Amino acid sequence: MSVPFYLSGYRPVLRDILKEITIIGGGLAGLVSSILLQRKGYDVSLYEKKEYPFHRVCGEYISDEVKPFLKRNGLFPDTSEPSEIKRFEFTSIKGRSFELPLDLGGFGISRYVLDDFLYQTALKEGINVVTKATIIDTSFEADRFVLSTATEQFETKVAIAAYGKKSVLDNKLQRGFTRKRAPFIGVKYHIKTDFPKDKIALHNFPNGYCGISAIEDDKYNLCYLGSRDRLRKYGSITAMEEAEVKRNPYLKGIFENADFLFDKPEVINEFSFAPKSAVEEHVLMTGDSAGLITPLCGNGMAMAIHSAKIVADCIERHYTKDKLNREALEKEYTKTWNDTFKKRLRVGRRTQALFGSSITSEIAVSLMKNSSFLAYQIMKNTHGQPF
Ligand SMILES: Cc1cc2nc3c(=O)[nH]c(=O)nc-3n(C[C@H](O)[C@H](O)[C@H](O)COP(=O)(O)OP(=O)(O)OC[C@H]3O[C@@H](n4cnc5c(N)ncnc54)[C@H](O)[C@@H]3O)c2cc1C
Repeated sequence: MSVPFYLSGYRPVLRDILKEITIIGGGLAGLVSSILLQRKGYDVSLYEKKEYPFHRVCGEYISDEVKPFLKRNGLFPDTSEPSEIKRFEFTSIKGRSFELPLDLGGFGISRYVLDDFLYQTALKEGINVVTKATIIDTSFEADRFVLSTATEQFETKVAIAAYGKKSVLDNKLQRGFTRKRAPFIGVKYHIKTDFPKDKIALHNFPNGYCGISAIEDDKYNLCYLGSRDRLRKYGSITAMEEAEVKRNPYLKGIFENADFLFDKPEVINEFSFAPKSAVEEHVLMTGDSAGLITPLCGNGMAMAIHSAKIVADCIERHYTKDKLNREALEKEYTKTWNDTFKKRLRVGRRTQALFGSSITSEIAVSLMKNSSFLAYQIMKNTHGQPF
């Protein structure tokens, strides 16, 4: 068993410097907010626990609502030639299917490529990106934060959390949702298969659903949300896939005929879709740290990018070199975050209830076949407008 650093006799050294803005986590929310804030003239440090490039669990379909913003800011990865996705297919566990054009559409690109592209951009902007460094503690006193990694402790004026779905810091900050065990797991593969490049499909299976869509280089992402309890019951991912995922005939076809490009899948477990709050102990929460939308909406990445823009704009309004109006900053950020995202998360949670059971998934396909109005309403209410 590993010993917590504060009991091990080792003490991180408190550096005698005050950082201006520190971002915890270098996914989409962290990298994009770091670039925007550095361009606004702030001195930004970003701490990321892993080393780029790396794979992470994600469906890798990004709603086009973020395209104008990314292009305007030189953050769209044109050279990697993302796939363009315009159609949506939904299948029930028994394999009944329903298809419709996507209102806005989206593009497909792996996080391995996209995050590395943003990381390289952040380095070019002169941002102090510290990789393989996990922030393990945060406290706030005398109007500044003290942040700790295993080896250093430093102070910062503004702290932005962009650490994603779950982190040790959620427990440190005693966030309400950590008291309940989260029942979900996410599993991701990259595959080569025969599938239209302009379509994203969402296939139901008992206790979960699985997306497939094209990314760059003739590759496809296959990613599903499942249940921790079912994994425990079957004992392994392979056994669970055999018993449940392949019950959907479309998924059976993909699993049995595609080339799987990873040695083993990327897996994440125990994350929560419960409501969170946009500010905790004065830390500004962005991306999934502020709230994770159910993946069936295909919108979490767009929200992470949009929240990065919102936090950067709010900071600019309330923090000039000499003066930080923290109260006004926190108030405006919370309001804007709630106005922009809260309803989407609620609709996403309710819609997810239609998935994963044989009866509800059959009903959902029938309803959508008879009235595409319902499907459009769900899309409209879980997506934002281009910005
Ligand atoms: C199964 C599944 C499928 C999904 N599919 C899609 C999809 O197709 N489309 C879509 O738009 N969204 C999808 N999402 C949601 C999407 O992945 C997230 O909303 C998005 O990645 C959020 O970005 P982020 O920057 O907030 O967090 P992340 O991208 O998770 O980045 C957080 C970063 O913080 C780092 N970190 C964590 N803790 C610390 C720490 N203490 N110190 C330093 N670094 C730390 C992590 O290493 C990580 O790099 C899916 C989610 C799941 C679970």
